[in-house]
Amino acid sequence: MAALDERYADIREGVRDLCTQFPAPYFREVDERRGYPEDFVTALTRAGWLAALIPQEYGGSGLGLSEASVVMEEINRCGGNAGACHGQMYNMGTLIRHGSEEQKRRYLPKIAKGELRLQSMAVTEPTAGTDTTSIRTFAAKKGERYVVNGQKVWISRVQHSDLMILLARTTPLAESAKKSDGMSIFLVDLREAIGKGLEVRPIANMVNHETNELFIENLEIPVENRIGEEGRGFRYILDGLNAERAIIAAECVGDGYWFIEKVAKYAGERVVFGRPIGQNQGVQFPIAEAYIELEAANLMRFRACELFDAGRPCGAEANMAKHLAAKASWQAAEACLQFHGGYGFAAEYDIERKFRETRLYQVAPISTNLILAYVAEHVLGLPRSF
Ligand SMILES: Cc1cc2nc3c(=O)[nH]c(=O)nc-3n(C[C@H](O)[C@H](O)[C@H](O)COP(=O)(O)OP(=O)(O)OC[C@H]3O[C@@H](n4cnc5c(N)ncnc54)[C@H](O)[C@@H]3O)c2cc1C
Repeated sequence: MAALDERYADIREGVRDLCTQFPAPYFREVDERRGYPEDFVTALTRAGWLAALIPQEYGGSGLGLSEASVVMEEINRCGGNAGACHGQMYNMGTLIRHGSEEQKRRYLPKIAKGELRLQSMAVTEPTAGTDTTSIRTFAAKKGERYVVNGQKVWISRVQHSDLMILLARTTPLAESAKKSDGMSIFLVDLREAIGKGLEVRPIANMVNHETNELFIENLEIPVENRIGEEGRGFRYILDGLNAERAIIAAECVGDGYWFIEKVAKYAGERVVFGRPIGQNQGVQFPIAEAYIELEAANLMRFRACELFDAGRPCGAEANMAKHLAAKASWQAAEACLQFHGGYGFAAEYDIERKFRETRLYQVAPISTNLILAYVAEHVLGLPRSF
């Protein structure tokens, strides 16, 4: 459909080939039973796609964010939901950039082989919400261990991951020079932690997204599982967020193309009042409008990825890409649902499922308002609003 499609043709073809074994009805069935697409994630791992960002020396393919984002885009474009496994792509960067050589040697080759999964990152807390610096989960250092107490919410894929990155305060907020100081990140081995200081309670939710409340009581984490320096965890997390934004933008682009291809085909075929509904401008224009927005979002997504891969600052571009793509995929979803008439609501068309899935991205991992606030403050130089 779009010229940009030709970029990374090999990757697109490879992922599409794999996705033909897991077509939309597979994801529909998983959605209906609120299950986890285990076979799909296993196949994706075995084919090496989830190790795209792991450097070759640790057994991965050493690709860049642009390529990794294409993998995720194609999954959604084929009718699937990359949300089941996208955590591995962006959590990886935190370990690669800030982990010690020993940590990388211990975990990365096993993650690349599919023996371990690093799918979860625990940041959000019930009382802090978007105001991450006011988190209360606290890790107190006691000899060679940290003892952690606190609570997290909306922590995804914990039941289908072996490892989780945890953000906790290691210095109380009142004693930190800056609000963003005094937090650290840890690699939690979920196989050991669950039932021994970590309780996981699933949250039933609108999307088929395995997400949970975490109750942490005297959870012990060995000092060697801290990633990077104590007190710098918030910076490390922020560092990884640009990759997360760009990956989510790519997923939204994939969703958007899926919706537009589906509705354009339907509008060309569905005959009402003796002509295809797509012959009416009232039907054509919203689809064309959504397509234009999507193409623009796609350009910004590649701009963000290219800057990231070149090691250049890309906070503005990554945030804007996520914002544009989440809005464009939602616009495409609206048009797709609307012009399928009643059939859009039938589960067998997959539209209502993907409509729910793509809506998430205007709230998580960062809400649209917070992106607007970021651009206002950091790009336009306006006073900080919170
Ligand atoms: C399905 C799902 C999966 C998730 N997975 C994870 C995960 O794996 N790990 C993780 O750590 N978190 C996860 N999250 C949490 C997600 O990142 C947060 O829900 C999101 O960042 C918003 O935080 P909040 O829900 O606390 O909303 P709040 O911070 O309470 O905000 C509520 C609303 O108020 C608006 N708002 C708040 N402050 C301002 C302001 N100053 N100006 C303007 N508007 C404002 C926000 O934009 C938002 O619309 C997930 C969430 C969902 C729904």
